[in-house]
Amino acid sequence: MKKPRVLIVEDESAIAELIAVNLRHNGFDPIWSEDGDSAQRELDAVLPDVILLDWMLPGQSGLVLARKWRGDARTKTIPILMLTARGDEPDKVAGLDAGADDYITKPFSTQEMMARIRAVLRRRTPDRASEAVSVGGLNLDPVTHRVSWHGAPLKLGPTEFKLLNFLMNHPERVHSRAQLLDKVWGDHVFIEERTVDVHVKRLREALGAGGALVETVRGVGYRLTAQAVAQVESQPRVAAPQA
Ligand code: CA
Repeated sequence: MKKPRVLIVEDESAIAELIAVNLRHNGFDPIWSEDGDSAQRELDAVLPDVILLDWMLPGQSGLVLARKWRGDARTKTIPILMLTARGDEPDKVAGLDAGADDYITKPFSTQEMMARIRAVLRRRTPDRASEAVSVGGLNLDPVTHRVSWHGAPLKLGPTEFKLLNFLMNHPERVHSRAQLLDKVWGDHVFIEERTVDVHVKRLREALGAGGALVETVRGVGYRLTAQAVAQVESQPRVAAPQA
């Protein structure tokens, strides 16, 4: 298996060296650039799997570079982890706004850095099952993109299809909204969690009677179950007082 390539953009050689040693030790392939210009040359040559981007750099700042690479079709899907000495909330927000996927505040532990790199890599490779699957009376074929309920074809939007595909491949298990964002949306980690609720609602509507298989587990998330209960709330997030 190919080692994940990590581009380190960091002007302080001692820090870059330390990061590189740890990455290599953990099975990654680190490349080091001292500034934005040399990082750009690396990106033009070979695309990395992750970019570790220092905030304070000579020449263009990390913030400017993140924005630039996010705006470029060639580099826009590469996960960017900002390295920053600042702990201020506005700076973190600015980094995320510029397109960074996450940030690590210096000084950081090797374990924390590795965990965050693995997390962004995981989020970039969402689950994509390709086998036809059936749960209860629901059938889904990812190859032909067809869904049916007891043989009757159903029409689903693309997001609802992906969501159902994931739920059907992991039935009877409860998935939190954050897990669904990771697994179904994958590369759009900054979508708000209530987006999940919106799509679950649409999915239930599209499934008609089969929508009863998608259960809300209060305070936890959602589950697809063949042992569906008859009564399914249509608006899971609204905690209506019981009359
Ligand atoms: Ca620096």
